[in-house]
Amino acid sequence: MSGSPVLREYGWGARLIPLPTLRRMTLRMSSRRWILKTTVATIASLAARRLFGQEPGAEVIDMHVHFVRKLTTPQGRHPEIRDNPLVSHWTWHEHNGDLLVQEMNRAGVGRALLKTFNAEDIAYPLRQDFHSDDSGTDEAPFQSSEGYMLEYRDKYPDRFIWAATVNPSIESFHERWTAKFSRNLRAIVLFPGLQDHRLDHENVTWILEECEKRGIKGVLMSFENVNRSHTSADYIEQLYDMIDAHPNLHYSFMHTGYQVPHTLEREPTLRLINHFNEKYGNIWAQTGNYYLDTRYPFPTQLAGTKDLYDNIGADRVVWATDWPWIENIGKYYQFVQSVEEHCTYMSPAEKAKYLGGNALDFLALPLVQ
Ligand SMILES: [Zn+2]
Repeated sequence: MSGSPVLREYGWGARLIPLPTLRRMTLRMSSRRWILKTTVATIASLAARRLFGQEPGAEVIDMHVHFVRKLTTPQGRHPEIRDNPLVSHWTWHEHNGDLLVQEMNRAGVGRALLKTFNAEDIAYPLRQDFHSDDSGTDEAPFQSSEGYMLEYRDKYPDRFIWAATVNPSIESFHERWTAKFSRNLRAIVLFPGLQDHRLDHENVTWILEECEKRGIKGVLMSFENVNRSHTSADYIEQLYDMIDAHPNLHYSFMHTGYQVPHTLEREPTLRLINHFNEKYGNIWAQTGNYYLDTRYPFPTQLAGTKDLYDNIGADRVVWATDWPWIENIGKYYQFVQSVEEHCTYMSPAEKAKYLGGNALDFLALPLVQ
C-alpha cells in the first residue's frame, strides 16, 4: 500500500505542519501572534491544496452529506436492532460539521451539499429499522434535526450548501417553507417513496412553483422505499408529468436512482433521463452508493458510476458520498481517492466535472476559487 504514489503524496505531502517544524518556528519567532497567524495561513493553504491532481481551478463538491448527533437506542432496550452500535460509528459518535470540515480539508473537498431533515421526515425508516415510537424525546433514536444541522451550515457558510427535505404532510407547510426560503436555501429534496406521496401532491406542486419564482434550480429526488402505495412504474409516469410541467428546474436522482431494490427500475429511468436531457437538458444523477460496499476501493460504487457515465454521459454524473452513513465503510479521503485511482476511463476534464463541475451546473451556482 505504501508504494502507491497517491498514498505517499497523501500520507506525507498533505499532512499538517509536523510538530518538529512547528517547534523550530516557535523557537525562531518569539511573537505568539506571528506564530498563530502563520500557522493558520499554512494550514489554510494546505487545506486548499489539490490532493489528487485535479484540473486547475476545479473544485471538489460532495453533493450529499448530513450531520448526526446520534442515531440509535441502547442495544439492551431493543435486542433485535439490526445495527450493531459498535460497528456503525454514527450510533456512538457525533458526526457534526466541525468534524466534516476537517475531513473535507484532508480530502481536498471544497464544499458539500448539506441535506437536512427532521425525525418526522424519516419516520418510516426509523420505525422499520430502529423501532422508533416517534416519541420525540432524547431517548428517540434519531437525536438530530434540521436546526442542529443548520448550526454548522451557519458556522461554515462557505463550505456548506443547504438542501432541505420536502415532507408534504407536515403541519403549516407553507409557513415553514417560507421561513426556509428566507435562510439561503439552495435546493430541495423529494422522498416520495419513503414518505409515500404522489409527485403531483398539491404541496409538491406549490414548492416547485416557489422554487421557480425564487430562482432555486435544484430538485434532488431519492426513490428509496418504493414498496408502499406506489410502484416504480407509477413514479416514472408521474416524473414525466412533473418535469414537463416545470421544465426550467434542474432534477437530480440521488443514489443513482435505480441501482438498488425498492427504487426505480434501470431501463425506464435511463430512458427518462436521456429523454429530458435531449428535450430540456435538465437531469443529472448522483452516484452515492458507497453504502452498498464494505471496503476500498468500493467496487459497487465504481460499477454504478461507470454505468451512469456510459449511459447518460460525463456531463450528467455527480459525485456524492452520503456521509456520515458511509463512515464505517472507509475514511472520507478514500472516497475521493477511489475516484482518482479507479475512474481511469474519465479524462481529467471529465473527472473534474464528475467531482464538482456538474454539481455547479445542476445548482446553477458559480465556481468559487
Ligand atoms: Zn442521505
